Amino acid sequence: MPLADAAVSGLAPLRAAFARQDEARLRDPYPTVAKRRAQLVRLAAVIKTARPEIANAISADFGHRAPQETALAEVFTSLEAIRYTVRHVGRWAKPERRPVSIWHRPGHARLRKQPLGVVGIVVPWNYPLYLAAGPLVSALAAGNRVMIKMSEFTPHFNALWERLVAENFPPDEIAVMDGGVEVAAAFSRLPFDYLLFTGSTRVGREVMRAAADNLTPVTLELGGKSPAIVCDDFPLELAASRILYGKCTNAGQTCVAPDYALVPAAKVPAFVAAARTAVTGFFPSLASEDYTTIATERHFARLAALIDDAAKTGATVHPLHAEASDPVARRFTPTALTGVTPAMHIMQEEIFGPLLPIVPYDTLDEAVAFVNARPRPLALYAFSDDGAVIDRVLRTTSSGGVTVNDTMLHVAQDALPFGGIGSSGMGLYHGREGFDAFSKLRAVYYQRRFNGLSLLQPPYGKRFDRLIKLMLR
Ligand code: NAD
Repeated sequence: MPLADAAVSGLAPLRAAFARQDEARLRDPYPTVAKRRAQLVRLAAVIKTARPEIANAISADFGHRAPQETALAEVFTSLEAIRYTVRHVGRWAKPERRPVSIWHRPGHARLRKQPLGVVGIVVPWNYPLYLAAGPLVSALAAGNRVMIKMSEFTPHFNALWERLVAENFPPDEIAVMDGGVEVAAAFSRLPFDYLLFTGSTRVGREVMRAAADNLTPVTLELGGKSPAIVCDDFPLELAASRILYGKCTNAGQTCVAPDYALVPAAKVPAFVAAARTAVTGFFPSLASEDYTTIATERHFARLAALIDDAAKTGATVHPLHAEASDPVARRFTPTALTGVTPAMHIMQEEIFGPLLPIVPYDTLDEAVAFVNARPRPLALYAFSDDGAVIDRVLRTTSSGGVTVNDTMLHVAQDALPFGGIGSSGMGLYHGREGFDAFSKLRAVYYQRRFNGLSLLQPPYGKRFDRLIKLMLR
């Protein structure tokens, strides 16, 4: 064991948990679909029963998280993913018949979906249940064993989740691990058969580097600056309300939150006013139970620094609520910023909080060029009732996913895959693509006793020449 690893406390349990699952994989490499369905149904029951405790634990980790947000964005989404998967896993798992060319008949071909083995999942703090359960559902459906490393920022939820899983699943099926960054780094060095990481682009790079040593394939679910393009024809109030809902859910601490808005230049003042109306409508008081707080002091300070930096370098700051931010409660006033420039930090890093820079544009081409001049985002939002305009935006930009005329909802479509592109990630999960990602799509060709191959074998002569001429026609 390398010295650095030996020094990490909590590493021995990691290795032991991996060895246990790896042995179990060899004992039962192909769990039946009935067993997988039973696991998923049990997982749903656990989540459903523990719903109040889940909401309390996540709220304790955040300072305050509206229980309704947890119910909608974590519990409902997880249960829906399970329902959809239970309904379809039988079909996904069936070997597929694939055609063979005339030269290989009468043999036949099948595509078998085989479990990969032991899958590692690394979870961020912002949606600790859904971002653990979502990948878990795909991995279990595909017949794998799963180790889950939770974020060090969600100790209350981790303790609950670890207990719930341990009470309902043997550790050779699902193991939940807690621990700091060193444990996370050691976790990503385990020789998993597949590793799914959700988190920042910076850490994603380190995870991929660690996985490369074992040639462990990865899905990286990362972040980025997801734009919302408001087109000229779309009702401004409606766009502002939908964008601000996306921005204020979980106080903007959402990977697919709209990061900044591109708005026709002449409409920027009206958009700011509409944004203020929307926020005040959602939260008559920011101290209301409905508004989620910023997870840590460090994250709160980072958001404040983004505003300071922008203000110092010429941006105009528009608080979208009469109540000022409360650093003690970590309640951050939703804020729009105009006059931003690409050099400002707020236009360079993912915001991950309730701040909305507004970038004016004159033509749609200009808006598209602005998006394309930056790393490809995890999500893109376009607001227009004109199908041709939407089509143009879709054809000329690139992003992990898209919601048209709203924000974030593509993530909740269980029949659609989810995943980033470029610096917002790689690989897909959710639904059918999630099942495939955690399966070995194993190619099997069945040869017949009597077949034509012997006609092509040496010694080569006239018969081979005649046949190959036909084959190369
Ligand atoms: P983070 O990258 O700081 O941490 C994510 C996880 O990685 C944590 O569990 C942490 O313990 C672990 N980790 C830290 N250092 C590690 C290392 N060296 N090796 C292996 N693991 C390590 O991210 P975060 O602050 O928890 O989450 C916020 C980020 O996640 C944002 O960028 C957000 O956009 C992104 N995110 C993406 C998605 C998505 O589905 N694409 C979803 C949610 C969040």
